[in-house]
Amino acid sequence: MEGVKGLESDLEAMRQYFWSGKTKDVAWRQSQLKGLLSFIKEKEKEISKALKEDLGKHHVEAYRDEVGILTKSINFALHGLKEWMSSKKAKLPRVALLSSAELVPEPLGFVLIISSWNFPFGLSLEPMIGAIAAGNTMVLKPSELAPASASLLANVLPTYLDNSAVKVIQGGPAVGERLLQQKWDKIFFTGSARVGRIIMSAAVNHLTPVALELGGKCPAVVDSVSSSWDTKVTVNRILVSKFGACAGQACIAIDYILVEKRFASTLVELMKVMIKKMFGENPRETNTVARIVNEQHFLRLKNLLSDSAVQNSIVYGGSTDEKNLFVEPTILVDPPLDAAIMTEEIFGPLLPIITLDKVEDSIAFINSKPKPLAIYAFTNNEKFRRRMLSETSSGSLVFNDAVIQYAADTLPFGGIGESGLGRFPPWNDYKLLLLEATYNYDYLGMLLVILGLKRRR
Ligand code: NAD
Repeated sequence: MEGVKGLESDLEAMRQYFWSGKTKDVAWRQSQLKGLLSFIKEKEKEISKALKEDLGKHHVEAYRDEVGILTKSINFALHGLKEWMSSKKAKLPRVALLSSAELVPEPLGFVLIISSWNFPFGLSLEPMIGAIAAGNTMVLKPSELAPASASLLANVLPTYLDNSAVKVIQGGPAVGERLLQQKWDKIFFTGSARVGRIIMSAAVNHLTPVALELGGKCPAVVDSVSSSWDTKVTVNRILVSKFGACAGQACIAIDYILVEKRFASTLVELMKVMIKKMFGENPRETNTVARIVNEQHFLRLKNLLSDSAVQNSIVYGGSTDEKNLFVEPTILVDPPLDAAIMTEEIFGPLLPIITLDKVEDSIAFINSKPKPLAIYAFTNNEKFRRRMLSETSSGSLVFNDAVIQYAADTLPFGGIGESGLGRFPPWNDYKLLLLEATYNYDYLGMLLVILGLKRRR
């Protein structure tokens, strides 16, 4: 398919291919998942190079966040595929005493995937893994803002896959809009709430189900934890997840921190020491922090810092380098709550800390804003943990860690309200399984295992 020339007839052929039944076959699904795996393995260097070109990602970060996670997800799908495809006996009421029923998983059909640029391989291929595992045919439109990655997906990935069932079309909003005019059986979108609304209104025409993976401001609450060792782990996790994953250009990155006033200066001092330890004295030169995707986003971030009250709240960092699209990891304490940095999604390496009288006040603060994609709470206070669980609402709630939920295949990933709808475990494309509930997940168990292992070393 060249650009969008002959789009309608190509798409019709793919729709018919679905009806041929070929993609429902377990062997077809396995072969395509293996094709994806071969692409990831054989083109690892090219993937890393494209991520460097598009986003200045360090090769270790590229492996950890894209190649590594995708490899794990594909293997997870290959392992679970037969089980996901199998029918499940369903219980019936007494009135149907002599009857039996089964829940039969069924692919939806022809799927459109529109993805974002910040994790251009992960956000394109994770939904593709699900769509393939469920036996669908599909079109992927990656983001035009990561052109090297989009080009690799469009020009090299197809050599590993059945091109009658999977196509990659490059382009920006105009191509996206043209695709949205077609009839799909599911649209899986990752991007902004603004475009999410466009997707949803286009889907109305054909009553197409949608999954919208959107963004927003994800808060992290930091309780004044008792042992200094815990504090160190907390700071480590906050910094790695904020500055070490695409320089904060991640939907589940911590957007801002809520902390008690009395603990704020301790937290800031620890952060200053750890930032230098993690990213070096000069991260611009050591290339340990990714670049901002383009000039427009660079200027947007610079603008967030331009207000004088915001400038005065900077306690670390604050420098920018337009030529290299670099924004230094920056910490701010109590910028004005009505400044853009506190009302808009930051999507970059700026980290405001908002101080509160009591950690419990964070609940009302969070609830005064749209429901976030994720809430992180670093606390061992059982009573507070229970309150966070029952009194807040978000796509995910993670205790004592951040961002790790994205890597957990066994959990449904997604947002709620302004942060999105729908989930993406691979089985999401089965129309007979309902897994739409918001989940709240406690990572304390995992944390303890990690801490236990560390302590034993
Ligand atoms: P965006 O909404 O501008 O673009 C996303 C995709 O939509 C791109 O492929 C783009 O070409 C396409 N698009 C743009 N306009 C379109 C239109 N009119 N019709 C059809 N398609 C159109 O978002 P972005 O800048 O790529 O991403 C940033 C946002 O995405 C942030 O809000 C971030 O939080 C969110 N995000 C969410 C997740 C998640 O998993 N929840 C992951 C990454 C990013």
